[in-house]
Amino acid sequence: MSMWQAEVRIDLDAIRDNVETLRAGTTAEVMAVVKADGYGHGMLPSARAALAGGATWLGAATLDEALTLRRAGITAPVLAWLLAPGLPLHEGVTADVDLNAASLDQLGELVTAARRAGRPARVHLKIDTGLARGGATPAEWPALLEAAAKAQAGGEVEVVGIWSHFVYADAPGHETVDHQLAVFAEGLATAEQFGIEPRYRHIANSAATLTRPDAHYDLVRPGIAVYGLSPLPAGHETGLRPAMTARARVTHTKRVPAGQGVSYGHAYYTARETTLALVPLGYADGVPRHASNVGPVWLGGRTRTIAGRVCMDQIVLDCGDDPVAPGDVATLFGPGDDGMPTATDWADAVGTINYEIVTRFGGSRVSRVYDGTAGVPTPDPAGPDPAVPGPAVSGPAVSGSVVPGSTDQDFTASGAVDQGAVVRDPGAPGAVASAEEVA
Ligand SMILES: *Cc1c(COP(=O)(O)O)cnc(C)c1O
Repeated sequence: MSMWQAEVRIDLDAIRDNVETLRAGTTAEVMAVVKADGYGHGMLPSARAALAGGATWLGAATLDEALTLRRAGITAPVLAWLLAPGLPLHEGVTADVDLNAASLDQLGELVTAARRAGRPARVHLKIDTGLARGGATPAEWPALLEAAAKAQAGGEVEVVGIWSHFVYADAPGHETVDHQLAVFAEGLATAEQFGIEPRYRHIANSAATLTRPDAHYDLVRPGIAVYGLSPLPAGHETGLRPAMTARARVTHTKRVPAGQGVSYGHAYYTARETTLALVPLGYADGVPRHASNVGPVWLGGRTRTIAGRVCMDQIVLDCGDDPVAPGDVATLFGPGDDGMPTATDWADAVGTINYEIVTRFGGSRVSRVYDGTAGVPTPDPAGPDPAVPGPAVSGPAVSGSVVPGSTDQDFTASGAVDQGAVVRDPGAPGAVASAEEVA
């Protein structure tokens, strides 16, 4: 595919480097959280890039996600934590997936799954230290520990971890953080009384990984930071680089007079004669409809604000007298180089968090294109081995040299897209089938 209309570009080397940065700040092991299709970045390539950066664990929300990692040949420890009753947990046990238990019922299901799988279930017991989401309350905790100790003595489970999750670590200094750490320490002490001293104690998300070394314990569980975005308020330097860029090529431009209403509902009127540019990305692709009249888009060397309503497939920019033309590249967000907007700028404009912005752009109809080599298997000179899972390499594994923002780029002529796009997501338009898909 030599020409493209809209794309989400993922810098795998940035993901690797971000994990290296996080590792450098802790003595704990790093679990890269790759749930929700790697926060929209693609679960498998993101997982491989994170492992290349030194992550030793992967975090998944669902059993399906964990099994998908295993089916792709990834052997690193994986924890899955969001489990409805009645799932085929034995498949997880057989695939060596670590599973969460936060109640007697969940532990019971794990025991059943272990019997069926013919091997102990690897379990992480979750204590609710205040989030009031998953996790056993401190009142329920001793009974869960007692049952787990019994199941462990019977060879049905192995308690690998005790864990919890923060309420508000993204507000450094918030009183809940200290309070939760105290409840967690108490929960660990109680576990010890039941003879449960797991290898992994973990509570730190990205925010606590970045700000609270005393919360790192044996394992940290960063998600958003792996993808280079900060959960912290502006001003906290993280040294991370955003991995996702969302952009599209202008499909149409036109001159319109002053007072022209623009897009559905005419929620915007031009102030003067101007050039409008049509950008083929809309809410079906991940652009929040709430970005109407507020979303920032870089085009023709400067940031503009979406003019009028976000449509299903497209947005309009008011470009004044700037010489924008069909084919020019409009960047919604990226690493933020040269003043271009970031996913955090989008979140601030729209009233959400950067997590939601990048996750929305995953799994849409827009092609996902990967730059960089981190975690990309090297092609076997003897030819492809269908037994070895891994993304297909569609060309030389060179980094994309695309510098978005100029108005006169010709990506086809520069060849940057073709050469830079080392991996295309299976199933994406123009995708090169990956080994997983073929297998
Ligand atoms: C999503 C999630 C994480 C990662 O959170 P970030 O804020 O993205 O670092 C860690 N642990 C659990 C249980 C999660 O659900």
